[in-house]
Amino acid sequence: VGRLTDPSECAAIDARLQRCGQMLERQRKAREDAEAIAEDGLRRLYLRQQRSELLQRVATVANLTSSAEEAYARAIEEICTHTGCVIGNVFLVEDDGRTMRASGIHQLSSPDLLEFIAESRRCRLAAGVGLPGRVLETREACYVPLLADDENFLRLDAAQRLGLVSAMAFPVIVGAHVNAVLEFYSAAPLQQDAELLETLTQIGLQLGRVVERERFTRKLTHDAQHDALTGLPNKVQYRERLEAVLSSLGSGEHDGVAVMFMDLDGFKLVNDSAGHHSGDQLLIDVAHTLGRTLSDFTGCDDGAEGCLDALLARFGGDEFTVLLWGPRARGAAPGIAQALLSALERLRLMVDGITYSVSSSIGIAYAEPGARRSEDLMRNADLAMYDAKRSGRGRITVFGAELHQAAQERFSLQSALGLALERREFELHYQPIVSLNEPEQVCGFEALLRWRRGGQELLPPSAFIDLAEEIDLIGKIGEFVMAQACRQAARWSGSSAPYVSVNVSPKQFKQDRFCDQVEEALVTSGLAPDRLRLEVTENIAIRDPERARATLHRLRDRGVRVSLDDFGTGYSSLSHLHRFPFEALKIDRSFVTGLSRSPRNQGLVRAILDLAQTLDLEVVAEGVEREDEAAMLRVLGCPFAQGHRFGRPMAPDLATQRLAAARARSYDLRLARCA
Ligand code: C2E
Ligand code: MG
Ligand code: MG
Repeated sequence: VGRLTDPSECAAIDARLQRCGQMLERQRKAREDAEAIAEDGLRRLYLRQQRSELLQRVATVANLTSSAEEAYARAIEEICTHTGCVIGNVFLVEDDGRTMRASGIHQLSSPDLLEFIAESRRCRLAAGVGLPGRVLETREACYVPLLADDENFLRLDAAQRLGLVSAMAFPVIVGAHVNAVLEFYSAAPLQQDAELLETLTQIGLQLGRVVERERFTRKLTHDAQHDALTGLPNKVQYRERLEAVLSSLGSGEHDGVAVMFMDLDGFKLVNDSAGHHSGDQLLIDVAHTLGRTLSDFTGCDDGAEGCLDALLARFGGDEFTVLLWGPRARGAAPGIAQALLSALERLRLMVDGITYSVSSSIGIAYAEPGARRSEDLMRNADLAMYDAKRSGRGRITVFGAELHQAAQERFSLQSALGLALERREFELHYQPIVSLNEPEQVCGFEALLRWRRGGQELLPPSAFIDLAEEIDLIGKIGEFVMAQACRQAARWSGSSAPYVSVNVSPKQFKQDRFCDQVEEALVTSGLAPDRLRLEVTENIAIRDPERARATLHRLRDRGVRVSLDDFGTGYSSLSHLHRFPFEALKIDRSFVTGLSRSPRNQGLVRAILDLAQTLDLEVVAEGVEREDEAAMLRVLGCPFAQGHRFGRPMAPDLATQRLAAARARSYDLRLARCA
């Protein structure tokens, strides 16, 4: 190596060395910067990964749990672990949407911190007040880097005593509302971290979904257990409660449970005439009235009598039920039933200027040694209710063993009735209808149905017609009656052959096939249509009067005549008489019995006869048993009658004989006149 002596050469070398040094320095710095950037990137990546894991964990919790409370607890636990916060606390927003209370759901890193929770539970925060209040108002996640610097933080004393430095909070949003605010506290200063805030906001949304799901489930459960119209518990809840109450009874205890079944009397009429909307309103009013009345009886007595609980439910339609339980249940039930009846009877519903009222039939059953299952009790109360219903409006029946027996008999009657047609057990008997001025002459016969049950006892229609209607057998039975009566009448030939009058139940009349049935009977028997009369009651006009009118017109066009039966017992509506093409009306037996001694009934019969004359209707008085009744009817001007005085319902052969005898007598009479 040669020595450098030239100063300019030395200076050039120095300059080069310096540049080299500077370049190395720049390179080192660049490397360090690159390393720092890489490290920061990695750190950010790591944090992002951690947060996404946190979000994932909370999402899993949110999916697995249906309880918001549990989801909140798990979420604050996860967030505390992730952020190193020492307290996680949940404030729940109250129904007004503007205030909050600490919920009691919290996460603490040490029991000492309970003091802060106790302080939190003492405050009720309005929107905008304190940390949770601010989150409620802004609906956004929020950081408080230094609690000591925050002017709007209420629990600062407690926080400083416990060494809490920073805080953050975020809302749980459900739809348009904040449901809760979750707050977190740390003992070391928290750095402002926009990404963490974003993660917390996402967690708030996830938790909101749990709340939504919980509400939806709660609504479904509520709907499954409540009646939508009245809001009362429904059948399902009633049954569940009854079962729970029964299973909580001790083995020797029976008196503690009473079941009441109620069925409104007259509700159908309101529904049919005032419309379904009014019917619904009435049911709501009934539910309120029953609930109010019951609340006067329930609760605990200060005396020695003990407590009484009640559950009122709507079973469906116009049926309500009451479950009473507690030591006073059995003793109190009849009095409560009476109070419920009285309250219902005071209830009024005004529709279009018409006042409607209802009453109810109530059946009561008690838990007994032999009837402690829910279905036994409900069946017994139901049987008692039907018994009450049969005895008239506004009655109460307490279940007894005889009702069970009656129900069994009814069941066996029902089974036998189902087979009666094919076993040919039905017969028609014929009761003469006569002219009051010439009682020997038979103008017509009313066909009256009899059931020779099991080929032995002869049952009147009152024993089975209602049941036949209930079990939908009336159509087939009616068809049989129509065909048989027409066939029999066709056999009574001759110039003054009598007509046959056939009773038609409302249900049968409303059947689509009814007119075809009549036509078929006429064609098959060959009976002239003007020798067939149909007897209907005013009930045919209920629900669909226009349809009833159309059917009646069809029958009249065919030449068949229709009588209004039992006049005076139903609505006796003038408009029915006026608007429907009836040709005769039959005065009910209740006006005829004892007529000669009852000026009131005489007045009524006179009024009916006047009305009939105005409307050009023929009149037949029913149930004439005595000559004085017949005489009074003659005086009043009634043209036709029917009753034991002129002949009981008789088998067809006897009816034919009676007809022949009447004809012979009239022949003799004419001969005598000629002679
Ligand atoms: P209804 O149509 O008013 O028939 C008159 C009822 O009064 C008959 O009772 C008859 O036997 C009875 N009766 C007649 N005269 C007297 C009397 O002087 N004194 C008394 N105490 N009773 C008298 P029945 O046969 O028991 O029929 C009762 C009801 O059953 C009938 O009342 C009618 O509504 C219904 N019914 C009868 N046959 C049929 C039928 O084939 N189909 C339908 N759907 N109902 C029928
Ligand atoms: Mg009749
Ligand atoms: Mg009648």
